[in-house]
Amino acid sequence: MEEAKAPVEFGRHEYDYEGPSRFCFCGLKAPRIMSWSEKNLGRRFFGCSIYDPMNKKQQCKYFVWYDQDFSFRAKEVISWLHNNKTELKTDLDDVRERIKALRNVLKRYEEKGEQQIEALEKKVNDLQMLATMTVVYAAKLEKWKKCGQISLVVVVFLAILLAFFLFRSWVLLVDGNRGFKRLGN
Ligand SMILES: [Zn+2]
Repeated sequence: MEEAKAPVEFGRHEYDYEGPSRFCFCGLKAPRIMSWSEKNLGRRFFGCSIYDPMNKKQQCKYFVWYDQDFSFRAKEVISWLHNNKTELKTDLDDVRERIKALRNVLKRYEEKGEQQIEALEKKVNDLQMLATMTVVYAAKLEKWKKCGQISLVVVVFLAILLAFFLFRSWVLLVDGNRGFKRLGN
């Protein structure tokens, strides 16, 4: 069985047909082909095996109708159905193109979203690190504050001690002077 390479819309070569085999003038088995001409839409005929429905070229002139001529009404209905099918196919192709375009847009948004999520995760990590560092430094600061308080107590104590010794030295000096004065008198 040999299939035509041309699209089905232009007529498919059928070799597996009922009844006796037909042969074209080339001596080859004649295929049954569906006509898509405006006048004989859907009507089948036997033609040359080397018939090319794309450019209507054929090797020999063999041509025999398989179907009886359709009534006007049948032709009208077939034509209407065929046109509707063509329109629907165009619409379907358009919808498929739109879906493809939308998928591409969605993919771009997904990629952009992933990048933004990555950036946000990095920021969250940075903030967490900053929070940890803040806690550590706050603890250190608290420690330093306590050390500072102890140091202040020590400094105050030393200052009081120094003042006491200075006061004592001054008292001794004053007493010493009085003693000298008394001896001088
Ligand atoms: Zn032929």
